[in-house]
Amino acid sequence: LAVLIHYLLFGYHPFSGQWVGSGDSPDQTELIRKGFWYGGQNSSIRPSQNTIPLDVVHPEIKRCFLQCFNDGHTSPHLRPTAEDWHNALQVAINDLTICGKVDSHHYSRSYGKCYWCERKAKLGVDIFPGVTIPTISATLPTTSNQVTNSINYIPVNTINQPSHSSQEPKIVLFTVISILTTLLLYLVIGDMGIILGLAAITFFVIKNIKNN
Ligand SMILES: [Zn+2]
Repeated sequence: LAVLIHYLLFGYHPFSGQWVGSGDSPDQTELIRKGFWYGGQNSSIRPSQNTIPLDVVHPEIKRCFLQCFNDGHTSPHLRPTAEDWHNALQVAINDLTICGKVDSHHYSRSYGKCYWCERKAKLGVDIFPGVTIPTISATLPTTSNQVTNSINYIPVNTINQPSHSSQEPKIVLFTVISILTTLLLYLVIGDMGIILGLAAITFFVIKNIKNN
């Protein structure tokens, strides 16, 4: 169960990472047998530069992983139960918030800042990218605020705005700005402006549907 939850949250197996032991890394079955995972104290597997730190998730989730893969490695009865996981995930979900810069970023308040922005600055790659809209300060609706939604890709702007999980204000904002932009284009360049405006709106709506 812990391995599956780890896969869902991080996207890779916990018994993987950078091998720091002598010789070549043994296969994963052997790593599991020896309890070598990237969060182990005496592990020959350490976090690689691409490993997402355990500190990023809520402390209750981190505690469950440590309890399972460290204490519970040789003592299965010490591993968190399904109920323990359920409770920890519930606490963690309630602690999630949306990044002020990129709407497709969700992070734990307990971490205090957006790890995905931090990771992008450090590694130059945003694994949950948003789409920058240069002149229109609009966002498209997001889906419900769940932990697994961090895998959604949602077009966003880069203007800071307060966090909110409700879809309705975003839809209203997007609609109003779409109409204003189309009108503005009409006033500036005439009939072609309406066509351009409608084309842009269609593009963003299709893009959002695709990404969801
Ligand atoms: Zn962010």
